[in-house]
Amino acid sequence: MTVSSTTNEVLELLEASREYARYLGELGVETVAAVQARSEVGSQVVSRGAIESSELKSKPPSSEPTHRSALPKQFGKAKVAAIEPALQDSLFGDLAVPQHSLTQSSEKLEDIWRDIGDCTRCGLCEGRTQVVNTHGSPKARLMFVGEAPGADEDAQGKPFVGRAGQLLTKIIEAIGMKREEVLIGNVNRCRPPGNRQPTLEEAAICRPFLFREISAVRPDVIVVLGNTALRNLLEIREGITRVRGQFQDFRGIKVMPTFHPAYLLRDPSKKRETWEDLKKVRDYLDSLPPRASES
Ligand code: URA
Repeated sequence: MTVSSTTNEVLELLEASREYARYLGELGVETVAAVQARSEVGSQVVSRGAIESSELKSKPPSSEPTHRSALPKQFGKAKVAAIEPALQDSLFGDLAVPQHSLTQSSEKLEDIWRDIGDCTRCGLCEGRTQVVNTHGSPKARLMFVGEAPGADEDAQGKPFVGRAGQLLTKIIEAIGMKREEVLIGNVNRCRPPGNRQPTLEEAAICRPFLFREISAVRPDVIVVLGNTALRNLLEIREGITRVRGQFQDFRGIKVMPTFHPAYLLRDPSKKRETWEDLKKVRDYLDSLPPRASES
């Protein structure tokens, strides 16, 4: 191995670690412990019990808005902690699925939307008509997360109001719920030009606001619609076709991955599988005791 290929490998490793650290920072992880494992230096993260909304409040500084730039502020506070043997995985180990439960923050959705404001944190602001914030009940037990607004959403300022949105409404009603009682949002809040997929960088800039909303509402189940939502909420490498229908975990909240309604419009034969996935969601919600405010 030449010196320059070793240097490149080290640089790539550093870059990958930095990217992962940013992801963890967004999830609220504040403590990273260095681990000496045999002759290799590994590291270990210790996550807190909740995403503290205050940590995610700071806007990404405009000079360093990308996932390739400096670590977010909250990560800068990381401190070396005692190492629990059970937690001695590598940096890319099991902690991809956080073990601790998300507690509800005291933030209101309106506070989060005020922070978002007339957002110019990424380039998507240039082509959009308006920011499309999450919509629905602040007491929702069920949340749907899609990718980004399309033309209809951009025009009306509400998520999922176009053809895919109408299908989503039918899916919600099929499990005996009303659209007004759930929460519907997207990874990105501005329409990407030509409805392209948001880039990793654009998603990373917008995602913390979604995490804050999840923390504020603390739904019992989140349905992630399609790959973009799946990969931004969970650190999952597999695609939606592989993981759909299997409950996942986002800090103690059940996550059901299923097909995006826009995909169902293109391939209606997949509606059956989506229905199976949503029945599992309905059965899980039915199995829960009523919340204190409902009983
Ligand atoms: N597709 C999405 O992912 N989100 C919307 O709001 C509309 C279409």
